[in-house]
Amino acid sequence: MPTSTDVRSYHCFIDGTWRPAADGATRDSYNPYTGQRWATVAECTAGDAAAAVHAARAAFDGPWRQTTAQERARLLRRLGDLVERDAERLAVVETTDNGKLLKEMRAQASYTAEWFRYYASAIETLEGSVVPADRPNFLVYTSREPVGVVAAITPWNSPLLLLAWKVAPALAAGCTVVAKPSEYTPASTLELARLIEEAGFPKGVFNVVTGGAEVGAALVEHPDVDKVAFTGATDTGARIGATAMANHARVTLELGGKSPNVVFADADLDAAVNGVLAGIFAASGQSCMAGSRLLVADTIHDELVARVADRVGQLTLGDPMDPGTHIGPVANEMQRDKIRGFISRARAAGATLVHGGDEPAPAGPLFVRPTILTGVKNHDEIVRDEVFGPVLAVLPFADEGEAVALANDTRFGLAAAVWTRDVHRAHRVARQIRAGTVWINAYRVVSFNTPFGGFGHSGQGRENGREALHEYTETKSVWVELSGDTRDPFTIG
Ligand code: NAD
Repeated sequence: MPTSTDVRSYHCFIDGTWRPAADGATRDSYNPYTGQRWATVAECTAGDAAAAVHAARAAFDGPWRQTTAQERARLLRRLGDLVERDAERLAVVETTDNGKLLKEMRAQASYTAEWFRYYASAIETLEGSVVPADRPNFLVYTSREPVGVVAAITPWNSPLLLLAWKVAPALAAGCTVVAKPSEYTPASTLELARLIEEAGFPKGVFNVVTGGAEVGAALVEHPDVDKVAFTGATDTGARIGATAMANHARVTLELGGKSPNVVFADADLDAAVNGVLAGIFAASGQSCMAGSRLLVADTIHDELVARVADRVGQLTLGDPMDPGTHIGPVANEMQRDKIRGFISRARAAGATLVHGGDEPAPAGPLFVRPTILTGVKNHDEIVRDEVFGPVLAVLPFADEGEAVALANDTRFGLAAAVWTRDVHRAHRVARQIRAGTVWINAYRVVSFNTPFGGFGHSGQGRENGREALHEYTETKSVWVELSGDTRDPFTIG
């Protein structure tokens, strides 16, 4: 845990103890806005990952396996209260680590508490079923049992919230967890471990190993991991999924997106402009569900683009702790350079720059100018690939059929929005779009009780809602012979 007020020092958390990495190695964490080193964190080894899996296995096979749903629910509710109590502190830690706006991380941190409360209630009310057996001498019932040891691997953009999407249903189901946060934003996961300790969860039920891709890979490769729950880039997810499958571990993958924001000519344009801004410029575009493709009816294309550009021109880039700031820095230099590279290649390919650009922004070294590009073609890189930054590509459509075709012409399928006042069209288009979430006249809304996940390259499985409990449990069918008769063994079946 933190040992200094200047530069904090974090250990990893294995089997209920805070310890340095096995070889003592550490990695520095930098504040993306100030550029200052603010924390050093254990850089765990493959041996640390194995120790964490061992602890999680022992806890799973030990007292945790004997707990009732009600006992786990009580612990989860206590954890929810502790997260709510410390939401402000957790939000400051997250903003310091990833540079996203304090007002966003504050809202996320306090909302995170609801995931623990929701899954407390969900597990208390999760029922098996009695199957109508097709023979008179049998009672057949099903129950749901915890999958086992879960490796939860998370990215840097919303570390605490995305971790809660995994940890709350996993612990509720009776699984144990080894979490591996992003090397760029490990602090809030370690702070959550402290709250899990304070809530009274038994040792080994929740463990944290910190470090980069190597320790993440060691965790995924470990043969005693029963399930990998991953949020991150699509390519990484494909690699992790293949490794996990080779070990016959279950997998949930929440990956990238290239989500369309589809605006029809009859839409409330004030609302649509807000939705476009929220979709791509909130969180500096570092959001898996970013509305990075604006598909707009050709009759209102110029007007909508002008209105969005006008609003973007009024956005303030600056200190993410300042309540007046709209856009903070991106998470790190690699990310900044990647985003600027996308913009410059789009310009070179003939896109029209309506706003922004790939030049440095005066607000600081890790800022990217909020950028709007028109005149792009559907096969351009900027339309096809995830940028994970504040870059909007705009494409016009002539009619509803073309809007749907463009929306679906992507390998991704995480989210989409439809803006129209026509209720028939709204549902018709929502039905045709291949995406895990479709908003109608809204953008970027999620909840603990609503499934979230992707079609296609956006992932596999669903988080949130009751469906997520199925991701952390196995169904067991129990056949009970009722007659007690000794039967001819060759007629059984
Ligand atoms: P990333 O894939 O680079 O890293 C994610 C995590 O995986 C990190 O903890 C990293 O250390 C770890 N990792 C990397 N390589 C690994 C390997 N070979 N084995 C095991 N672990 C490994 O992703 P990122 O850059 O941190 O996050 C951005 C990406 O996450 C974007 O593509 C974004 O769309 C996606 N994302 C998706 C969702 C969603 O819910 N669908 C939410 C947020 C972010």
